[in-house]
Amino acid sequence: MTNKKPVLVSGIQPTGRLHIGNYLGALKQFVELQNSGKYQCYFFVADLHALTENPSPKDLSQNIINLVIDFFAVGLDPKKSVIFQQSQIQSLQELKWVLGTLVPPGELLRMTAFKEKVLQALKPEEREKLTKEEFDKIVVSTNYGLVEYPILMAADILIFGGQFVPIGHDQLQHLELARTIARKFNNRFGKIFVEPRPLLAPTSRVMSLDDPTKKMSKSLPNGCLFLDDKPEDIRAKFRKAVTDSGSEIKFDEVNKPAISNLLMIYSEFSGLTIAQIEAKFKNKNYSQFKEALAELVISYFEPFNKKKKLFQKKIVQVKKQLTAGSNKAHIVAYKKIQEVKKLIGLIPHLNN
Ligand code: AMP
Repeated sequence: MTNKKPVLVSGIQPTGRLHIGNYLGALKQFVELQNSGKYQCYFFVADLHALTENPSPKDLSQNIINLVIDFFAVGLDPKKSVIFQQSQIQSLQELKWVLGTLVPPGELLRMTAFKEKVLQALKPEEREKLTKEEFDKIVVSTNYGLVEYPILMAADILIFGGQFVPIGHDQLQHLELARTIARKFNNRFGKIFVEPRPLLAPTSRVMSLDDPTKKMSKSLPNGCLFLDDKPEDIRAKFRKAVTDSGSEIKFDEVNKPAISNLLMIYSEFSGLTIAQIEAKFKNKNYSQFKEALAELVISYFEPFNKKKKLFQKKIVQVKKQLTAGSNKAHIVAYKKIQEVKKLIGLIPHLNN
């Protein structure tokens, strides 16, 4: 890796099994970006971010190792990318504190993702009726990690000099805040941070298999297709997947949102264009299309599942590789936080 390549940073939270939304919206692109050889890549297990969901210690530690195994099994390679665990980088916590002093809390409380998170337990009709006072009451009783989340995210990116951040649409507002924070810091103390730019995956939103109006999400497991689902589960899930009225296999997001979602998934896993798939299934019905899609996805993830099983047998080696990645990331982050501390006056100049 040469230092001249632009730095790319992204993380995924260890909050449970990965689904095809995570894969198509993030991991597939991570692997392509890594293998393009154009970037210095930093990919991390966002375990500090995951703490905001208050997981049990047992689940969290298991999910951390499972996610690293998934990273390796999809093709992220510690020889090509720095793959690390966020909580092992102490300098991040220091930078988060420094950056937090530049952000008014009002800006954090206005973040769409924050509002979504604190209101997620409410039904849509309850949300509509919510008064400002009731909203404020919910906000002040929420966990503080959810408020600080975007500042930690800014620190994650800025500490490594991240120029590019592959993210989903849902994170764009947070990235904009990271840019604002970088600019504020640079204007006040001297240019030290790069203003990061987003890299949006071509597939922005994979919708739920049981409700095409909702995003596929771990919080709605019934509509998820997980990367390590068994072939019989994949077949059953596609068989049960919601379809639209009519019988034609045609892309039409307004009138046929369910079939359009399945067509997009087929296109991603086959490399065929939507028009080619429509032509291929011209005289076929929904269930024939869904059967073919299930077989396509099963064979696509066969190598992934084989590798995953191999890595599961080599946990000690996986942990060692994660530690080695965290050590590399720590060196870069430590150097940056020292520069920051000097700039802001935390390291007194002896000759002054
Ligand atoms: P999460 O576990 O929700 O933090 O998601 C990890 C990554 O997967 C983020 O980059 C998300 O934008 C992406 N992602 C999650 N769900 C979907 C989805 N249904 N469609 C596309 N991308 C998604």
